This record gives sequence, C-alpha cells and structure tokens, in this order.
Amino acid sequence: MQSGMKKEISYPEPYAPLEKVNFPIWDEAGLEVYFKREDLSHPFISGNKWRKLKYHLLDALEKKHTHLLTFGGAYSNHILATAAAGAKLGFKTKGIIRGELVSNPVLNLAQLFGMELEFISRENYRNKESFYLVENYPNTSIIPEGGAGELGEKGAGEVLNEIDDSFDFIMCSVGTGSTFSGLLKQAVALNKQYELQGFAIIKNGEYLGDSFEKCGYQNYRYITESHGGGYAKTSDELLRFIQEFSSKTGILCDQVYEAKMIHHFSKLVQSGYYPKGSKIAILHNGGLSGMLSLLVK
Ligand SMILES: *Cc1c(COP(=O)(O)O)cnc(C)c1O
Repeated sequence: MQSGMKKEISYPEPYAPLEKVNFPIWDEAGLEVYFKREDLSHPFISGNKWRKLKYHLLDALEKKHTHLLTFGGAYSNHILATAAAGAKLGFKTKGIIRGELVSNPVLNLAQLFGMELEFISRENYRNKESFYLVENYPNTSIIPEGGAGELGEKGAGEVLNEIDDSFDFIMCSVGTGSTFSGLLKQAVALNKQYELQGFAIIKNGEYLGDSFEKCGYQNYRYITESHGGGYAKTSDELLRFIQEFSSKTGILCDQVYEAKMIHHFSKLVQSGYYPKGSKIAILHNGGLSGMLSLLVK
C-alpha cells in the first residue's frame, strides 16, 4: 500500500443463494418453497449473525478500534461469529459469557479464533452494560448481545434486497427479535407487499409483539406457538423431524432455531394455511454450531 493511501473499509458480501427446496409435505400442498441459504455465507459467521455484525464492524473499522467486546451464552452463535469475524478482519476479541466457567465445542472454537473469554454470574450478566463501560475499554467497540440494536437491525434487513417481488411469504425464526424487526423495517423502506412471518423459538414470546407492531409494516404475522417447549428445549418429535428433513433435502437445520421454524411451518402447511401455488422464501440463518450441543452428554 502506498503511504498516505487510505485503507479501504469494506465488509465481505455473504454467499447466500436462493435455492428451491423440495420436501414431500410442501410439494403435496402445491407450494413453491425456496431457502435463502444464509447458512452458507460462512461456517461460523453464519446467517443473520453475519448481517447483524456488518454495521457494528464497519463502525469499529471506521473508528480504528482494535478490539471487540461482546456478550452471550455458552452456546451463543453470536459469540462464535464475533470471534471468527474479528479474526478475519484483524480485531482482538473478548467474549463475556453468562454463567459459570464451562468448556464446550462452541467456546473452544471461539478460542481457536483468538477470543478471550470471561465468565460472569447470571446476576451480573443481567446488568452487564453497567460493568463494561466504554470509558474503561479504550479502542474497543462494545457490541450488544446478539449484535442487536439499530446497526444490527439495519444489517439484518438487507437480506430483503436479495429477494424479488415474486414471493408471497418470507419467513425467519425469532429469538431476540432484532432480525425480524430489521426485516419489517426494510420491507417498509422498500415498499414491499409480501407477508413476513416470524416464528418464535422462545416461550412467552408475546412480549415482542409491540416492538414488531412499531416497525410499521402492515403485512406480517408473528407466530408464538412455534417454540416447542421453550428456548433450546428439544423433543424426540423435533429430533425426528430434523432427521427426516435433512435426509430428504440434504440441508441441516439446528434444533434451537431453524428446525423449530421449519417444523412449525410444515404443520401450518398441513393445516392448509398457505394457498396452493404460494411462493415462499425461508431464511435459513445458519447456526449449525448449535448442533454441537447434541454431542455433549
Ligand atoms: C441468532 C439466531 C436467530 C435469532 O435471531 P434474532 O435476531 O435474535 O431474533 C435465528 N436463527 C439462528 C440460526 C440464529 O443464530
């Protein structure tokens, strides 16, 4: 690089094709279902985590920060994504992990990417913002849990720029809700008409309803019955569904997020919710590292 030349600030574009997926239940209902393969963008900076980090990381690059600090649970996809993205873009990373000291494959991977881990009690975690103040962390971007906030929503919403108007329904799973909020806001900005659907993967997710309403998009449905017993709770039925789905499509889906959406979506299909001939895009937001928890007994 020539001296005096400004280093270009850019964030890699995700590789996430729209792919037609055939699954007997959907085909029998006469639906045309596509997956937006956000799971393919990167093995560990996958799906919406890639998109939610985008503007946080561009902001950090612009401010010439050298460190990233963020928060998450012991199996957090966001923690692993931040570790991998930090390594890729040249940041030192620190992950503040909720709960007692543990070791698991997800945290081990984060450490391989150079992330330093700090474990804090669940009680302190609830007030984490008061412990990790910007003034005590010079040259550091403090990224909210899950890559949330306005910057995260903005990045998450951009996926809609890559889906054309021929679709009748576009759907994603809903954890903290920032991805779905980002979609709703972007659909307003782009003046879209299709129905957006969010599938809750947490129990009692009704509390997010207000924040979705405030996004101002008219045509959406937030489905709260899809949690399958609660966050990260699995059942034999769900695991059997994953087996059936993966063996018939060649696509893996994690038991915490995407399998719950796909499973519940399939039940709605069987109940006749979607008119024959509907064209549907399902955002597959990756998170396959969550499946590693199935290997830990
Ligand atoms: C984080 C995550 C979600 C939930 O996204 P929110 O923005 O928290 O609602 C869904 N799917 C996968 C695979 C995730 O990693």
